[in-house]
Parts: sequence; C-alpha cells; structure tokens
Amino acid sequence: MKQRYDILIVGGGMVGATLACALGNSPLSVALIEHDFAAPFEPEQPYDLRVSALSAASRSILQTLGVWEGISSRRLCPYRRMKVWEADETRAATEFNADEIGCSELGHIVENRIVQLALLERLRSFANVDLICPARTEQIEYAPGSSLVRLTDGREVLGRLLVAADGGQSRVRQAAGLGVTQWDYDQHALVASVQTGYGQQDITWQQFTPTGPLAFLPLGGNHASLVWYDRPDTIKALMALDDEAFLQQVQQTFPDCLGQIDAVFARGSFPLRRQHAQQYVAEGVALVGDAAHMIHPLAGQGVNIGLLDAAALAEVITQAHDAGEPFEAVEVLARYERARRQHNLMMMQIMDSFYRVFSNSNLPLKLLRNVGLGLAERLGPAKRKAIRLAMGLDGDLPALARGEPIIHDR
Ligand SMILES: Cc1cc2nc3c(=O)[nH]c(=O)nc-3n(C[C@H](O)[C@H](O)[C@H](O)COP(=O)(O)OP(=O)(O)OC[C@H]3O[C@@H](n4cnc5c(N)ncnc54)[C@H](O)[C@@H]3O)c2cc1C
Repeated sequence: MKQRYDILIVGGGMVGATLACALGNSPLSVALIEHDFAAPFEPEQPYDLRVSALSAASRSILQTLGVWEGISSRRLCPYRRMKVWEADETRAATEFNADEIGCSELGHIVENRIVQLALLERLRSFANVDLICPARTEQIEYAPGSSLVRLTDGREVLGRLLVAADGGQSRVRQAAGLGVTQWDYDQHALVASVQTGYGQQDITWQQFTPTGPLAFLPLGGNHASLVWYDRPDTIKALMALDDEAFLQQVQQTFPDCLGQIDAVFARGSFPLRRQHAQQYVAEGVALVGDAAHMIHPLAGQGVNIGLLDAAALAEVITQAHDAGEPFEAVEVLARYERARRQHNLMMMQIMDSFYRVFSNSNLPLKLLRNVGLGLAERLGPAKRKAIRLAMGLDGDLPALARGEPIIHDR
C-alpha cells in the first residue's frame, strides 16, 4: 500500500523538522522521513560536539512555532558580545554588543541535538504530520506531482510536493536532477568541546590568522566550544594527537584571552565546501537548508539561513493553498526561490570574502582588512547594519521570523 501525502519532506535535521512544524495544524498532509531519532537528552551529560550559533531570527521562528521552550528548558547559552580581530601586531579589532541595538542578546549557542529534539517533540502534537523515523530510503523517484520514496522495510510513500531537507549530499536533489556549483575551501574545521578556567562567558570571539580563524563559542558555566580552521593537513595532524598533546597545541596557538583549558571532552573535524544549487525548485520539488546551499561556517550562518528557507517555503505553500493554487507548481515554488536565493547568495559571498581577505598575508589585503575592521568599529550606522545582518534581522523576513504565525485557512 502506498501512503500518499501533500508534502513529503526527506530529512528531519533542524531545517526539515522546522518546515514540518511550520506546516503543522494546516489542512495539508505532511510526512517527514528521517534516518534516525536524535538521542535523548540528560541534563548531566557532557556538551555535544555539534553546536550552532542561532540568530535572533532563528529564535523568533522557533519561538513562533512553539519550539523554543523545548530548547530553553534543556540548555542553551546566550551571547551578548561578539569580537573579531587580527592576529598580527596591529590587532585591528571590532566588537559588537547587543546593547548597541537595544537587544538583550545577539544570539544563542545551542547543541544541534537539542534543537532537533525540541522540534521532533513539537511535531508529535500535530495530527496532520507523520514522522517516519527511523527510516532508510532505498530509492527516490522524482515525478512532478507524485514523487515516490521507497524505504528499505518495503514501505512506499508518495508526495505531491517532494522537499529535499536531506543535507549537502542530498539524494532528493540528485533524483530531481538539480545541479550545483561547488568547490572545496582549502580549509578544514576542527571543533573541540572544552572546559575552561573561566566562569560563565557572554562573548563569542574570532581571531583571524593567515591560515584560518580561531573561534570561541561560550556554553553553560565554564564549558565552551572551540573551532580551529586551518589547512586540511594541519587539521588531520591535530586530530591524530593524543588529548594532552592537542591541549598543548591549543594553549600555544589560541590567543591569551582563552585562558587555561582544563579539559578537552571531544573533538571532530569537518571538510569545508561551498555549494549552491543552480535552482532551488522544479515542478513538484523544492530544496531547503544544506540541500540548497553549503556555506563556510566561520560566521555561523548555515542553519540560520536554512531556517529562513523553511519559514519562507511554508509561507509560500500555505498562501498558495489558501488561494486555491497548486502549491507544487513551479511558478508557485519560484516565489520561494525569489524570496531566498539572493539573500543566501549574499551570505555566501560575504563568507567567501572573509575567507579570501583574511586567509592571506598579502600586504595590500592586510591593509584592506585592517582598514575594514577599523571602519566597522568606528562607523555607527554600518556597524549597526552588520549586527542586524549577523542576527538575521536585515532584509525581507518571512512572517515566522518576524514573530507572526502562519494562519491556515481551513
Ligand atoms: C563545523 C561547523 C560548524 C557550524 N556552525 C554553525 C553555526 O554556528 N550556526 C549555523 O547556523 N550553522 C552552522 N553550521 C552549519 C549547519 O550545521 C548546517 O547548515 C545545518 O546543519 C544544515 O541543516 P540541514 O537540516 O539542512 O541539514 P543536515 O543537518 O545535514 O540534516 C539532514 C538530515 O537529513 C537526514 N537524511 C539525509 N538523507 C536522508 C535520507 N535519504 N532519508 C532520511 N533522512 C535523511 C539526516 O539524518 C539529517 O538528520 C556549521 C557547520 C559546520 C560544519
């Protein structure tokens, strides 16, 4: 028996699950297919390796969907300040403070698993959403208006609109024949979860060096997440060190403001790729999140722009359905692509400029970035605009990101 749905979302990561929540309580039938459940959370457990800096816009989306409570009741860390500086003798720097735009914080650092758990919990309250998990997809057949996903246990699921939320290596995107432009950054990221000698911190900082940035993200109490961006060989060598030798390297390389690191709990490394789908939509299919775009994580924007995709797509689908339009039609889905593509591209280009301008010891570029940091520090309006951009509050925002629920006609 084939089960048929209006919307079939493949991938229940942070972005796919947000889209399913945004379509919760609508007249549309929705299925979310996800490989595995996120492991349950215990308050005493060590911090996960994978954390994200969630922007104010992401918080607004999750709050409006009734998901934020599930995050804040577990654990998160607000950050109020953000500092960026050069490792060289000039130490040209700029610091953003939430006070400058009258906000209580710039964003929150949250473990990815907690976001996913809170989303899946919320999903269970919607009668129109089926969570198909754990599930292994054997085959994905794209057919406009009636795509089919066959699971390894023999179940078959049909969707009028197929949504790819299955990450950077998206099988849905490949099945739909949507191409990407991509290249590898000559940089990997090593993420380490550590315990510091300092108490609770409210700042996230990044020091730029010619081989890549060194970043600090505060977690609860004296815990923190460090990100070390460097050439692939250097990161591989760091990953091969034992904990004691790795700790020594961290203390030697990171700036003094890191303080003493008392313990490293976990570390992992990630190759960095830039990837952008040539189209986000075709008849009966749409891409969201990393399936549509992978961006350098140095300013922590990947999931933030993915949640904006989810919010925008849910709005377009709902409005079309309420107006009696076929929501799977490419002309309708093109509204979603128009709402998101330019914004995502701008974010990718900003990250690329950071990558190119800062990962370089060429003298004119060095002067340029020192002047840039100095100007960013001194020019009030430009600085406030940069803060709003980092908080996801710049530009045309989907309703959920403005704190307005999506109202469904029944
Ligand atoms: C080192 C690092 C640090 C980062 N830090 C930040 C940050 O601070 N802030 C930020 O905004 N972004 C950050 N990012 C980016 C962020 O992690 C990604 O943009 C985000 O995880 C993308 O979410 P997604 O749901 O689109 O995809 P994914 O997280 O890849 O989720 C895809 C989901 O689909 C499921 N899936 C895949 N294929 C199938 C299938 N065939 N069937 C069923 N299920 C399937 C997977 O199990 C998974 O749950 C960082 C990235 C890296 C590498």
